[in-house]
Amino acid sequence: MTSVNKQMSDELTELDTYTKELLAELEAGSDSRTEQSPAEERKVRDLFTRAENENLTGPIIELFSRLLEAARQKKATPADFGISSVDLQRLALKHQQIDEHMVSVGGRLVRALPIAGQANSRVEEYLAAKDSVAPSGIERWDQIQENISRIKSELKMTDEDWNSFQGQIRHAVDSVGTLAKLIDLPKDVLESIGRVTESYRMRLTPYYTSLIMPGVINDPIMLQSIPTGEMIDNAGVEIPPVAADHSPARLIDQFYPRVLTIKVTNMCAMYCTHCLRLAHIGRKDHMYSKEAYGEALDYIRKNERIRDVLITGGDAFVLPNSLLQWLLAELDAIDHVKIKRLGTRIPVTAPMRVDSELLDILEESSDRKPIRVVTQINTAQEITPVSRDAFRQLSKRTFTVLNQAVLLKGINDTREKMWKLCETVQESYVRPYYIFNCSYRNPQFSHFRVPLEVGRDIVESMYGNISGDAIPRYIATAGGKIPLHRSNVMKREGDDYVLKKPWNGEEAHYPDADPDVYAREMFAFNNRGVK
Ligand SMILES: *Cc1c(COP(=O)(O)O)cnc(C)c1O
Ligand code: SF4
Repeated sequence: MTSVNKQMSDELTELDTYTKELLAELEAGSDSRTEQSPAEERKVRDLFTRAENENLTGPIIELFSRLLEAARQKKATPADFGISSVDLQRLALKHQQIDEHMVSVGGRLVRALPIAGQANSRVEEYLAAKDSVAPSGIERWDQIQENISRIKSELKMTDEDWNSFQGQIRHAVDSVGTLAKLIDLPKDVLESIGRVTESYRMRLTPYYTSLIMPGVINDPIMLQSIPTGEMIDNAGVEIPPVAADHSPARLIDQFYPRVLTIKVTNMCAMYCTHCLRLAHIGRKDHMYSKEAYGEALDYIRKNERIRDVLITGGDAFVLPNSLLQWLLAELDAIDHVKIKRLGTRIPVTAPMRVDSELLDILEESSDRKPIRVVTQINTAQEITPVSRDAFRQLSKRTFTVLNQAVLLKGINDTREKMWKLCETVQESYVRPYYIFNCSYRNPQFSHFRVPLEVGRDIVESMYGNISGDAIPRYIATAGGKIPLHRSNVMKREGDDYVLKKPWNGEEAHYPDADPDVYAREMFAFNNRGVK
C-alpha cells in the first residue's frame, strides 16, 4: 500500500450499509453447495490476488460480483475460495479509499451498476435501429455521391455549376419532365405530380434532389419537396394566414412586443410541401423594392421596444450579399435592436450558398450585435458532410445556429427518427430549438399532421435519454408560439410536489421552497447596519 492509502485507511474504518448488506449476503446461503469448477476457482483466486496487489477498483468489483453470483446460486461462499471475512472487509475498505468519491463496493455493485444497466435498456432499441431507420446524409454519403454524378451528367452541369448557388438555382428541378429523368417514379405518380404542380410550385435544387435515395418508397426528402395529389385532394378550406392580422407595416409580422419578423423575400431555394407560408410563397419569385424595406426599417426605428429582429421570407439567404449586408448594417445602426436572427433552410437545400463572402458579412455584423441563424432540418438524411460543414462555419462566425423542425408524418414522427434528427443536428454544430406541430391552417398538408399526444410522447421521451442540449421545445403556432409539453408536476402533497420522471414514470418527491422563508428579508448583508 502506498503511504497515501495508508494514511486514508487510518481515517476510514467504517463500512456503509450497502457494503454490510453485501457482506452478509456473501456469507449466507452456504447449506446446499455444489462443486466449483477448478477454472472458476482459479479465476477467483487470481482476482483476489489482483484486488490485493493492484491499486484499482476494477478487480475488487469483479471479485465481489463473482463471489455474489456464487453465493446467489448457492454454489460457494467466499470461504470456499479461501477468502475470509477479514479479507473482504479489508478489500471493501480499500475500494472506498481508492475511489475519488469514496463510493463503497456495495454501493457500486448492488446499487449503481444495476441502475446504470436499467438506464442502458432505455436506449437499446434506439441504438439498434437508428442507422437503418433514420440514416443521416453523412452515413449515406457514398450513395449521395453516386446520385450527384448521375444528376450532374443528366442536367449537363459542370463542377462550377454544381458548386455555386446560382448554378443550383439555374438548374433547379421545376418540371415533372426533368424530375422523371432524375428519379425513377411510376407513371401514375408522375401524372399526379403534373396535376398538382399546375397549382403548387415545385423546385428542388439538384443538390437537394441528390439526397433522395433510389428505390425508397416515401423517401423523406421526396415527401418534403415533391408536391403530391393530397395537396389538391384534401378537402377543406384554407384559413388565411394570421399574419394578415399581424402586419403593422409593410413586410412586417408582429405578435410580440419585442420581437418581430421582416419577410424580405418570398423566394426559397427549394419549396417545401409542408410550407406554412404557402400563400406567401405564391407562384412567382419576388424581390422587393428598397422602399418596402425602408418602410419596414422605419417601423422598427420608431418602435423602441423592438430588440430582436428576424429576417425571414421565404429564405433570408436568397438575398444577394450586397442587400443582406445593407439590411444588417441598417439594423445594427438602430440602438434598440440588439439581436438579429436570419431564417434560412439554404444550408440544407443549397449549402454552396454559404461561401466566404457571405460568412464575412455575417461575422462582421455579428461582431457588432449577435446574429443567430435559424434553420429547418426535419430528417437526419438532410445532413451531409457538405451541409454539416456549412453549419460548422456558420456556428463559428455567428452567435449560434438553431434548428426549428416541423413534426411530419412519415418523416420524423417516431422516437427513433426524432432522436436521431436531434442528435445529428447537435453533432452538426446546431442547437435543436423548436419542434413545430404541423399547422392546421392549410388543408394542402393535413396528410402530414401528427396528433399532439404522439408529438408529446416523442418529445418527452427524449428527456434523460439524449443530451438535454439536444432536446427542442414542442410548439403549436396559433397566433404566436404556444408550448405543448406535458407537465411532469403530478400533484402537491403537503410541502412537496410529486414529480414524474419522463424517462421511466418514476415519482420523485420535491420539497418546495418555504414560502415564509421566501417572504422574509433576510440576507446577511441586511444586517450590516446599512440603512
Ligand atoms: C416565430 C416568430 C417569432 C419568434 O418567436 P421566438 O419564440 O422568439 O423564436 C416572432 N414573430 C413572429 C411573427 C414569428 O412568426
Ligand atoms: S424554406 Fe421555409 S419558407 Fe421556404 S418553402 Fe420551406 S418552409 Fe416555406
